Amino acid sequence: MNNDICGFDKETELLKLHDEGKLINNQGICPVCGEMIDNYESIEFEGDMAYFPWHCDKCGTDGQEWYNLEFSGHNYYDKEGNEIILEK
Ligand SMILES: [Zn+2]
Repeated sequence: MNNDICGFDKETELLKLHDEGKLINNQGICPVCGEMIDNYESIEFEGDMAYFPWHCDKCGTDGQEWYNLEFSGHNYYDKEGNEIILEK
């Protein structure tokens, strides 16, 4: 299985963490078994955070992957219909 997400050997790193009994807390990775999560539901919002509910097909765990929401700007359309993008 290819877990090479960020340009280095993720699988080896995860196995090492498992062997050391450390928790896995990485984006896209099941924290229980270390497999890649590919069963996500639609995003849910809660305050200034959001999460994707997920289910790990490998070990059967259900969980949520959380993200902080940060304002990054507006866009709008002027009277001629041109899109104006304002970045923070
Ligand atoms: Zn799992």
